[in-house]
Amino acid sequence: MFETSKSATLYDRAKKVMPGGNTRHTVFRQPHQVYALRGHGCRITDIDGDDRIDAVGNFTALIHGYGSERIREAARRQIDAGPCFGMATEGEIRLSEMLCERLPSVELLRYTNSGTEAVMNAIKVARAFTGRSRFAKCEGAYHGTYDPAETSQEARPESWGEIDNPASVPTAKGTPQGVLDDVVVIPFNNTPVAEAILRAKGNSLAAVLVDVMPNRAGLVPAKPEFLQMLRRVTRELGALLILDEVITFRLGYHGAQGRFGVDPDLTTLGKVIGGGFPIGAIGGRREVMSVFDPTIGSPAVPHGGTFSANPMSMMAGIAALEDLTPVSFEHLESLGELFDAGIGDCFRRHGIEGQVTGLGSLRRMHLSNAELTDFRSTFAAGDGPKRVAALARSLFDEGVIIAANGLMAFSTAMTPDDIQEIIDAFDRALPKAFSKE
Ligand code: PMP
Repeated sequence: MFETSKSATLYDRAKKVMPGGNTRHTVFRQPHQVYALRGHGCRITDIDGDDRIDAVGNFTALIHGYGSERIREAARRQIDAGPCFGMATEGEIRLSEMLCERLPSVELLRYTNSGTEAVMNAIKVARAFTGRSRFAKCEGAYHGTYDPAETSQEARPESWGEIDNPASVPTAKGTPQGVLDDVVVIPFNNTPVAEAILRAKGNSLAAVLVDVMPNRAGLVPAKPEFLQMLRRVTRELGALLILDEVITFRLGYHGAQGRFGVDPDLTTLGKVIGGGFPIGAIGGRREVMSVFDPTIGSPAVPHGGTFSANPMSMMAGIAALEDLTPVSFEHLESLGELFDAGIGDCFRRHGIEGQVTGLGSLRRMHLSNAELTDFRSTFAAGDGPKRVAALARSLFDEGVIIAANGLMAFSTAMTPDDIQEIIDAFDRALPKAFSKE
């Protein structure tokens, strides 16, 4: 059929000026990208006038959807005052006060423009603080695109190595061997194996970087004994524990650390704390964060950034947190529970093997009933990730946006009726996803 949509026309233009017409792989679609026009409530209208429920909210960043008047008003006021300055602003103090009040382990904070930069700085802090260069991360976990933090997410099982000694596998071609050698890879949720690997590296480790519910490794919650082991062993080895809460901060008023009872040395943040504007943050114990302190001589970790702590992100972030109350968390939990009940019925009705992982307002779809504990079991489930990607495409056609890997994030802009609409779309999309095989 001859393609005449406005998105197709725009994509033809895009291909002339961007590689493959794309500037963000996570939003790439074939035969062409679909271009957003505006968001409203929990929905996006695209440039061709089609409306869809946004059930991933810019990859979990938009916890209030597009509906918060408080955020819009804060952003409008700030843009009138000036979008950014080569000076500090009061907003950075207020946002820090709010985050320190919520996160029990965070005494001091500092801002970046993305979660990637927050993780990069956390690793630099750990290195400066301990004088060691190596750090450990969990296999399959995504922490942004800083070279060492993006290792071991490769989708080719032949590159993974043995489970008791997972390889440090590059994600981008050309990653220097020296970078890979500095990364120790541990299997998520496999407490005895991970402990043995960490102990074998002994006191060469600056830090262990962990996300308690890593999306790309399955969105499976960490087992309590796994997290307890990481805390105990890092203390014994003199390494720092870095908790990546770029996504999981949205799991509760006190973040994932409150929900899981973890006491990290450093926390990385991003996404929801910017109210829809670019942001990242790194926070932690006073003693550790002092590597940034410019009042005690030349800082051990220099850190600037033209847009770091920019007032648009600060003010929108404050507004987003003001709207993120214990009551809104209860609402998000109830949406998650409604979804679980509805999707379970849906799988049964169609006789399709499937399950969802996740907690709070986060979910990930898996088309398999296999037990999922980590990256390897998730990758193998349901014949690999292709089927879920087909389901995401069918859902898009049925009016619901989820990530290609099945990730979903509910927002405070959603009602139980919206969840029902999502379930109804699954009802139509599930059989189609299988028939397209
Ligand atoms: N850490 C985690 C756990 C993430 O999920 C992400 C992004 N999805 C990042 C870090 C990187 O954040 P950003 O995309 O803002 O660079």
